[in-house]
Amino acid sequence: LIGQTQLDPAMLGSNRVNGLTAAVLGWLLATMSWRKTAVNLVLTRQLAQRQRELEAKQTELRRLATRDGLTGLYNRATMDRLGRRELARAARHGLQVGLLVIDLDHFKRINDRWGHPAGDAVLTRAAKVLKRSVRKSDFVARLGGEEFMVLLPHTDAPAAAQLAEKLRERIAQSLVPVADDVIDVTASIGVAATPAQAQDADFSALYLAADRAMYRAKAAGRNCVVVDAA
Ligand code: GH3
Ligand code: MG
Ligand code: MG
Repeated sequence: LIGQTQLDPAMLGSNRVNGLTAAVLGWLLATMSWRKTAVNLVLTRQLAQRQRELEAKQTELRRLATRDGLTGLYNRATMDRLGRRELARAARHGLQVGLLVIDLDHFKRINDRWGHPAGDAVLTRAAKVLKRSVRKSDFVARLGGEEFMVLLPHTDAPAAAQLAEKLRERIAQSLVPVADDVIDVTASIGVAATPAQAQDADFSALYLAADRAMYRAKAAGRNCVVVDAA
């Protein structure tokens, strides 16, 4: 095109050099800009991937901080927090809260006879039985060792005792297979509930009452439910 519009050879040469320079510069700029875009794209993807990994790690950390590693149930610290929250909520609405403390009987014998991994399998099984047997609105925790807790919002002592009896039966019926044998386990359960219309019920007092009742169940021969007298 330059050749058809420019007749002066000197101008033609200069225009051609300018045209070529412009084309080369354009090509260079386009290449640089494409490289930048490509690098940005890769970086954006890497950033999104890191973000996803970070979120997964945060979720895992939250789980580790709030749950028991073996059974996946809530841990003691979480249950303390949930318990206080539920008691405050219940007081506001004039409702009662029930609490069960569940301790497996002669658990040391199970470890001694079948070994720790079998003991762990019994704990996992008991956790499943508890979790499956309560409402979605109830909270189940492993306090440590072979001790569990069930927090029952909107539940008085007789209703909590009824559930405790059901849980006791289901634990006693559940069998854990090991090698060429099966392990059966029983539990002693203590039951307590906040007083009706309580304005300032205290979670540690409720726990103490249920724990006391659990020890009475042990003293009464184990594999039974005892309701706190208060
Ligand atoms: P009781 O009927 O009076 O409750 O007797 P027990 O043997 O259940 O009670 P004790 O407190 O004497 O023993 C509890 C045992 O639980 C001792 C310990 O070895 C075992 N234990 C604690 N934590 C774990 C665990 O995470 N896994 C396993 N397999 N055993 C555990
Ligand atoms: Mg025990
Ligand atoms: Mg115990």
